[in-house]
Amino acid sequence: MIDSHVHLDDPKFDYDREDIINSLKDRGIDRVYNIGADLESSIASVSLAKKYDNIKAVIGIHPHDAINYNDKVEEKLIDLAKDENVRAIGEIGLDYYYDNSPRDIQVEVFKRQIELADKLNLPIVVHSRDASEETFNIIKESKEKYPNLTFLIHCFSQSVEMMKRYIDQGCYIALGGVVTFKNAKVPKEVAKEVPLNRLLLETDCPYLAPTPMRGKRNEPYYVKYVAEEIASIRNMEVKDLVEITDANTRRFYND
Ligand SMILES: [Zn+2]
Repeated sequence: MIDSHVHLDDPKFDYDREDIINSLKDRGIDRVYNIGADLESSIASVSLAKKYDNIKAVIGIHPHDAINYNDKVEEKLIDLAKDENVRAIGEIGLDYYYDNSPRDIQVEVFKRQIELADKLNLPIVVHSRDASEETFNIIKESKEKYPNLTFLIHCFSQSVEMMKRYIDQGCYIALGGVVTFKNAKVPKEVAKEVPLNRLLLETDCPYLAPTPMRGKRNEPYYVKYVAEEIASIRNMEVKDLVEITDANTRRFYND
């Protein structure tokens, strides 16, 4: 199966990155998408993808780091995107929970990277926290301007109603470890209601490990716990779910 969102370049994998990547296949993971969050991790994503067949790269500047975005950074992203392993721009978006960059700059940088994705003809992986209405409005406006763009809302943590509005905009929805948490009432409802042909699975490792690994370092193979939980919520076989979510992932990433 596929893990649609990992950060294997994270320092938490420094001591065993090679082992983790080499054991993916044996542990049932065919492919992972390594997601950039700043220039350094975007470069690292492309390096990993060049080195390993089972890794593809996503590059972009996270809202946390929006303050450091400038023409030079954008040129570097354009340069990196020339590599055929780069499958999307991300993770980009808005984070009004941490507010690590001023909100007006987050908005500006999100919009600039959406324009960039359109130019590069790449889909977009969106990070959105405590900014659901604002994120939605920017995506809706962008879809009017750039109808061919496709968005994936990663680690979806908003309401069922918001999920439906995103679906109406042609977006994909990715669910991760949070859906396995006992008290995650809303994510479980989203897992039940989301159209199957728009659902992706992810870990966001090393963050947000699913139950029963909660609190530990997350790893790509724990995506199976996410699959098991959603299959049980939807009353279907895990393998049938994974067949669909894997196909969705490849369709989203044009891979
Ligand atoms: Zn992430």
